[in-house]
Parts: sequence; C-alpha cells; structure tokens
Amino acid sequence: MKSGQDAIVKDLVLVGGGHSHVILLKKFAMLPLPGVRLTVIARDVHTPYSGMLPGYLAGHYQFDEAHIDLRPLCQFAGARLYHDEAIMLDLEAKQVVCKGRPAVPYDVLSLNIGSTPDFNGISGAEEFTTPVKPINNFVDRWRLLVARVLDSPGPHRIGVVGAGAGGTELLLAAQYRLGNLLARRGQGTERLEFHLISKSETILPNFGPGVRRHFERLLAARGVHVHCGAEAAKVEPGAIIIAGGKAIELDEILWVTAAGAPPWLRQSGLDVDEAGFVLVRDTLQSTSHGDVFAAGDIATVVNHPRPKAGVFAVRQGPPLTENLRRVLVGRPARKFSPQRAFLVLISTGDKRAVAAKWGFSAEGQWVWKWKDWIDRRFMRKFNELPKMAAEEAPPLDPGLADQATLKDISAIAMRCGGCGAKVGANVLTRALADLEPVANTDVLVGLHAPDDAAVVQIPDGKVMVHTVDYFRAFIDDAYVFGQVAANHALSDIFAMGAEAQSALAIATVPYGLEAKVETTIREMMTGAIDILNEAGATLVGGHTSEGPELALGFSINGLADRDAILRKGGMAAGEVLILTKALGTGTLFAADMQMKAKGRWIEEALKSMVQSNRAAARCLFDHGASACTDITGFGLLGHMVEMTKASGVDVEIDFDSLPILDGAEETVRLGILSSLQPANVRLRRAIRNLAEVQGHQRYPLVFDPQTSGGLLASLPAARAEACLRALRDLGYARAVLIGRVTAPSDHLEPVTLI
Ligand SMILES: Cc1cc2nc3c(=O)[nH]c(=O)nc-3n(C[C@H](O)[C@H](O)[C@H](O)COP(=O)(O)OP(=O)(O)OC[C@H]3O[C@@H](n4cnc5c(N)ncnc54)[C@H](O)[C@@H]3O)c2cc1C
Repeated sequence: MKSGQDAIVKDLVLVGGGHSHVILLKKFAMLPLPGVRLTVIARDVHTPYSGMLPGYLAGHYQFDEAHIDLRPLCQFAGARLYHDEAIMLDLEAKQVVCKGRPAVPYDVLSLNIGSTPDFNGISGAEEFTTPVKPINNFVDRWRLLVARVLDSPGPHRIGVVGAGAGGTELLLAAQYRLGNLLARRGQGTERLEFHLISKSETILPNFGPGVRRHFERLLAARGVHVHCGAEAAKVEPGAIIIAGGKAIELDEILWVTAAGAPPWLRQSGLDVDEAGFVLVRDTLQSTSHGDVFAAGDIATVVNHPRPKAGVFAVRQGPPLTENLRRVLVGRPARKFSPQRAFLVLISTGDKRAVAAKWGFSAEGQWVWKWKDWIDRRFMRKFNELPKMAAEEAPPLDPGLADQATLKDISAIAMRCGGCGAKVGANVLTRALADLEPVANTDVLVGLHAPDDAAVVQIPDGKVMVHTVDYFRAFIDDAYVFGQVAANHALSDIFAMGAEAQSALAIATVPYGLEAKVETTIREMMTGAIDILNEAGATLVGGHTSEGPELALGFSINGLADRDAILRKGGMAAGEVLILTKALGTGTLFAADMQMKAKGRWIEEALKSMVQSNRAAARCLFDHGASACTDITGFGLLGHMVEMTKASGVDVEIDFDSLPILDGAEETVRLGILSSLQPANVRLRRAIRNLAEVQGHQRYPLVFDPQTSGGLLASLPAARAEACLRALRDLGYARAVLIGRVTAPSDHLEPVTLI
C-alpha cells in the first residue's frame, strides 16, 4: 500500500471530508509532500456538494453528480480513508478520539466537519423535525419524506423553518420535486401545502431588497404560506408552536435554521466562539493550538467573520493547503483574507435561478444554466481524476524533521533481515499494552504470562481444529484490515462446525520510525482483537517483523465435538445450496486500487467482510447442514468443486439467484478482475455447459476470489426456507438459496450453471 511504504515522518490528519479538504486532497495528489502521511477521518464517504444539493433534491442531478466520492480521491492523494466519526480531541496527546476505532495520532490536525443543526434548546425540535444538517443524513431522510408524502392519500402540510438562502431554496426544490412525482402518478399538487417559517421580519434577511422582492413574488405565485416574525417556541407531533402560542399544523417539518457546532470541540479545550465554532486566526490556525487548523462552516475566522456557506469553505481550500504544508516543514503560515462580496446563485427549483452580487440581481433560465456549468466544472475536478505518471519521490524537506529523526530514517534503509527484522521489544510492548484478549480458562500460558510458547488445554471429549491464513493488506486502514484478517482466519473454524478457542498472530509491518510502526501495530491488532474476542478466541501470542508492506495472518485453534464436525463432503442429491454472503470482493478491491470503485461499494464490501460467520455456521448446523465450507481465495466455483469432489455429487447453480455486492457487476463489466482470477478461471473445465454460459455477465463472478467470504452449505430442501429466515434474522441479509445438489452423472464436469 502506497502510504505504508514511504518513510513516514509526520502525520497530517484531516477530520471531515468537507469542501476545503477535498481541495487539499487534490492539491496534495498533484504535489505530494514526501514524509507526510495523510489520513482522512470521515463520517460519510460521499460529500454532498452544497451548490448542487438543491438541484439534487429537485431531481435535476443524480446522487453521484452531486456528491464527491472521497474513496478514489483519497487513493489519488495517497491518503488513508478512515470511515469513522471524530467525537473528541485529546490535544495533549495529539490524538483524535473516534467512535469506532483506536484514537488516531496526529502531528498536525485540520478540521473541516461542516456544521450541525442548531435546535437552540427548542423543545421537541430534535424529536419531531427533519434537520437539514448533517446534509448526508438529510439526503437519506429526504427519501423517506418523499415516500411518506407520496403514500399519504390526503392533504400533506410541509413546513420549512428558516427562511435564509438554504431554507428558501430547499422549500422551492422540495415543492418542485414533489409536484413532479405526483404528476407522474397522474395526481395534482392540490393536496400539498407549503409553509416557510422565519423569526426574522423578512425572508432572506442577509440579502438586498431586489433579491428579497423576487423571492417574495415567487413564493406568493407558488402558493407558499410565508410566516415572518414567527419564532418557533416549541415543536409537537404535527405542529410547530410560535412564540405567543399560535400553532401551525404541519405533517413534515424541515429544520434549516442557523448552523451549530458539535459540543466536543469546546469540551476538548479548543478556543471556540459562543456558538461553539473553532476560533481561527487569519492563517486558519486555532487561536489556542497552532497545530490545529479549521476551515469551512466549523471555523470562525476572528478577523474576518463570514456567513456559513460552502463558497467560503471552497475558497479556504488553497490557503489551508498552503499553510499546512508550510507548518509541516517548519515555516510560518501565511495570512489569508477572504473576499467580502461573493456571487450568490440561488435556484428556484424549476431549472431557473437568481444571481446576486454587489446589490445587483438577475433571474432566469440562463442563470441556472450558468450555475449548472460552474457546479459541474467544480465537480469534474474530483470525479474525473487524471492518471499520474509514477515519479521518483523528491528528497525529504529538511524542515520536516530534526537531525535525530533524519538519522533514524536513514537507518531504516540499513535494517537487517532474519531475526533482525523483528520489531523491537519496546515498540511491541507499547503497541500491545492495551490489548485485552478475552479470558479463557483453557489458556494456561498466554499473553497474560508470556513465555517461549503458549500452553492451551483441550477440554475432555473435544477434538482440536487447526487452521492458518495470512495475507497482505488490501486497504490503507490497519484497524479494518486487522478485523478482516481475523475474521477471515476464523471462518475456517466456523465452517467446520467448531468454536474458536485460541489464536496466534503473525504480522509484517512496513519499516518506519518507531512511533509510526507502533501506531500501525496498535491499530491493526486492536481491530483483530475486537473480532477474536467477539468470537471467543483468546490471542495467546504471535510474531511481528518488519517488511516492505503490511500483512497479517492467524493460526487459529478451535474445538469441536468429534461427531459434530461439518466437512466439505457429505452433500446428498436432493439437497439445496445456501450461500450466506454476497460475492464480489475480489473485483471490487481490484477496482479500488485503480480508483474505479465507488466509496459506498467498498464500504458495503468491508461491512460484509467483518461480519462473522459464527452465527451463520451454527444456524446452518441447526437446520441440518450436511456439508459446509467458507468461500475464500478460490471463489465460489473453486470451493463448490471441492465440495462436489468430496461428496461425489453434481450441482446446479442458478446465476440469477447469486448474491452480488453492489458495484461488482459493474467492475467486472469494465474488465477489472483480481490478480487471482486467471488461476481460478482454470477451473472452468468443471462447468458442464461452459459454451452456453461463459458470455453471461455474472460468469466472471463465480471465479472471483473472496476475502472473508460467506459460508456455502448444503442442507435438506425441506429445511431451507426456515434456515434462510433464521439467517436473515441473524443479520445475514444477503443469504440465499443458490442451487441444488443432484445425483452424480456420467459427465466429468460436476457443475451446471443455469
Ligand atoms: C439546503 C442548503 C443549500 C445550500 N446551498 C448552498 C449554496 O448553494 N452555496 C453555498 O455556498 N452554500 C450552500 N449551503 C451551505 C453549505 O452547505 C455549507 O456551508 C457547506 O456545506 C459547508 O462546507 P464545509 O466544507 O464546511 O462542510 P461540509 O460540506 O458540511 O462537509 C463536512 C464533512 O465532514 C464530515 N463530518 C462531520 N462531522 C464529522 C466528524 N465528527 N467526524 C468525521 N467527519 C465528520 C461530514 O460527513 C461531511 O462530509 C447550503 C446549505 C443548505 C442546507
């Protein structure tokens, strides 16, 4: 993996994939800073572009047109993408505390996390409204709202609280979209009622009279009820209560009031303003902590306060990048003063828009076309990434590190192999100090009392099941890689119908400065321990060495009752085949390396890869499974053939029923396949009707190698339905029946694809 191989001297951690950070990533991709590792911690992997959001809601743009995909962008920039949420900063230890992974250390930190809804303590607002912030959540909730409106047979009253540019634009977009959807169903909009509610005395209080008058006329013409000077005092189910007691009855309430900041910034000890936004100097550095930067909505530039708008976040991207680079190499940051006047383009829902600047305004279809051109040009910068020629990395900037560190770096190149490649004892002790393997009375000598080897007892009447797996990191996220590697290794045990008892780890970590190696081991092993503990497998020891790239494997010991072992053999004609997880990880991660996989595809694939097969195995066993295996490197067909051989039967597999991960059919169509695919395809000779099926669009996917794939089991047809219901209840949403077992025939090929 790119980021692991270079000598990492400093960590630049970016929290949030907002408008400023996407610009920074692009700039770092075009001009990397050797020795600096970029890590992006992002709650959402697709960042909505604010300029296109109303157009997206109005139905003029598709999701991918209006969102920046952080995954390929991070790949392009050589940055690690951690899909997680920052919940606190430890400014002393210089760490970002995250919701679902170990704290992430930084040398320099940058915050671009946008804003949160500000309910201003109004009772019921949080429970009974749909806040527009965070926008990502709103996009999902908007879909639900649309469904509710379309499904409700009678009148539906929709209120938007907040009559600034965002609220007004949102209302007009919503009205347009819902009108269109109803028209498609042959219905009119008479049953819809729209209300715009604002505590200010006019709509668009920050705009000139020309723009205001235009929108007042437009809202009146579109039948919108405008309530100005109406401060929300309380929200109840079905109504908003205005100060003074008047109630406005509403079925949906969208909350688009002034933005707020999450409380953890203040709690962390950063200087913040009254509303909780990070106070920054003209250099975008925190007024209290020079190694913390902030940009976009979340920052308040003390000397140049501006409205919270995406346009400012975009403009701060280049100076933020420049100043982070400067500070990382020990140079002083430069002052930046944002422009005062900026062009405002507010759309009116119907592919028209209003432009305003310096007190002038204009309206029309041409303004929308102009806005659309600007927005699409902006998005192309992130969604169409150029191919970069591989160039030799320039030498480290001497300002990046002190003499001692530079000496350490040159020593890395001289590291020995053999036993000398072992990670130093101090590094290892510190990295593993916080790991807490699950307690197990069978473990007589383990990590709690380290020795030359672990000693584990086998309980009476049990047999021991052994397995080992080891592979290179396929993602630049050591924590998630640790989870997947452990899960993958455990699956062999579960597929045998056994329970995991103990584990030994074997790890390779890229050469680097001690502190960076320590963090990588800690992150990777925390991920692994989370999974091993959940599975009841106690980590009893391991071995870690340095090498060119990150890799991890486990030897797992499991226990089973002698007569309750599930083998590959045992399938009987008349039984059916169940697969518990979707296929496609091989092609998807090949596409990811080429920056051709969408972030959401990879997220879904990773979710599937960290899902344990333990409960599925138990469920299959309880429903009478006669044979079982886990799908890994040989792909579905390879593992299927192993089962048919061992069982002496034939099988029919139904192409259309195969569960496929989102995006995998698309990447296969683009010809993107795993490097293991050609070896797996050799087994096509096992397919009886090869000539007939090799043109099928799903054909390559039966060979696709899986990492931490699902279980494939054979069981009596009569029990299949109940088994599938139980599997889905256990969270295996993609579990399906994929085929049937038939009696052995005279044909040499055991598999028929139908
Ligand atoms: C309806 C509507 C229309 C708008 N139209 C416009 C417009 O036309 N022009 C304009 O200039 N502005 C517009 N705005 C305002 C604009 O949306 C915001 O000002 C802009 O999005 C702020 O950009 P940002 O870069 O600060 O953060 P954002 O774009 O909000 O990005 C922040 C990112 O950080 C991530 N994040 C948040 N918290 C965390 C966390 N704790 N850990 C990790 N990641 C986190 C989020 O997932 C998000 O992707 C509009 C707003 C609304 C509501």
